[in-house]
Amino acid sequence: MEKIQMTTPLVEMDGDEMTRVLWQQIKDELLLPYIDLKTEYYDLGLPEREKTRDQVTVDSAEATKKYGVAVKCATITPNAQRVEEYKLSEMWKSPNGTIRAILDGTVFRAPIMVRGISPVVKTWKKPITIARHAYGDVYKSTEYRVPGPGKAELVFTGADGREEFRQTVYDFECAGVLQGQYNKDSSIASFARSCFQYAIDTKQDLWFATKDTISKKYDHTFKDIFQEIFDAEYKAAFDALGIEYFYTLIDDAVARVVRSEGGFIWACKNYDGDVMSDMVSTAFGSLAMMTSVLVSPDGKYEYEAAHGTVTRHYYKYLKGEETSTNPVATLFAWTGALRKRGELDGIAELGEFADRLEAATIAAIEGGVMTKDLVGLWEGETPARGVTSLEFLRAIRARLEA
Ligand code: NAP
Ligand code: MG
Repeated sequence: MEKIQMTTPLVEMDGDEMTRVLWQQIKDELLLPYIDLKTEYYDLGLPEREKTRDQVTVDSAEATKKYGVAVKCATITPNAQRVEEYKLSEMWKSPNGTIRAILDGTVFRAPIMVRGISPVVKTWKKPITIARHAYGDVYKSTEYRVPGPGKAELVFTGADGREEFRQTVYDFECAGVLQGQYNKDSSIASFARSCFQYAIDTKQDLWFATKDTISKKYDHTFKDIFQEIFDAEYKAAFDALGIEYFYTLIDDAVARVVRSEGGFIWACKNYDGDVMSDMVSTAFGSLAMMTSVLVSPDGKYEYEAAHGTVTRHYYKYLKGEETSTNPVATLFAWTGALRKRGELDGIAELGEFADRLEAATIAAIEGGVMTKDLVGLWEGETPARGVTSLEFLRAIRARLEA
């Protein structure tokens, strides 16, 4: 069989620990035999980040801006213990945070569904993709522990000195708490554009919800910006595809999501997204079956798994033990990136290959072959056989070639 040829390279961001091991196995077993893989390689593993003083992370994000599609392996976000373990000169920032800031993107998380592992919510038949606005609000708030009686005010002074706003928040008669939050029109607009863009890409409805009836300025601004951008820039494309933009109140959205069949994108404000993504991913089954894609408002894509570097398994691997770490989300990051690259470059074979590889993966699991994390969730008729990561990848390969 002739290998599929590529024209533009994928930006390849390698990572750490167990996922770094899986990364190489996926390439060796399932990609390199079939594709003349063209990548621009960036090693985001912690030793290389230390060596380049994290410049490699910035370079990889810039390359994503240039080429448009990246695939990323999970990486360690250093904490005090990692600084010790890797003898770091600094506690380098989260690579995902750095890349997201440079691309100004939104993260979309979607579960990979298989027959035999059913979502906790019985009505869910299709994936629910969550988009979280990862900027501002309570995550960048200023807080104050009010010690006792006193006046709390909200004050804004314009840079030109002309505008001044002052309003009493509360006249405290006792101790209490106080918090100041903000967001920016530009960030909300980027979030909205990434969401509309991704809804068009994946031909799914987009839902968005806030509490605008209570928060008449703050949340209402989110609602208004979404609606203005939708009407001006995306409505025609949505109509042509037969998809819908649907706005409702957050509590109504939660109720509707639980009663729904799935198959849509749910855009969430920062805190809602933090909470709801954990709820939705747990209800779908396993973090190891969750993909994640960062989409910038101008249509750049970075695909990855939603889980981390699976440290506990890596320490076993280092002792020479075979591990049964689930490679599905990392593999689907590759297929997502290859499909998008094929779409942008007009190489139909790349998209077809990605489809076949995903189908072979799902077929392997549905046939009862899976990594051990899934065995406990399995409700299929065929008895489940828990295998090592490499055995699982080879079972996929066998199906791919069948
Ligand atoms: P994790 O790597 O997601 O793993 C947590 C646990 O979830 C594992 O110990 C394992 O449970 C299970 N798990 C996750 N992925 C799995 C898979 N593919 N197959 C089988 N089981 C899986 O989270 P963590 O241990 O909190 O974080 C480890 C490192 O990853 C940290 O240094 C963190 O900074 C980093 N991280 C990176 C990203 C990213 O790059 N996007 C995201 C999150 C965390 P059992 O041990 O019970 O088998
Ligand atoms: Mg959370």
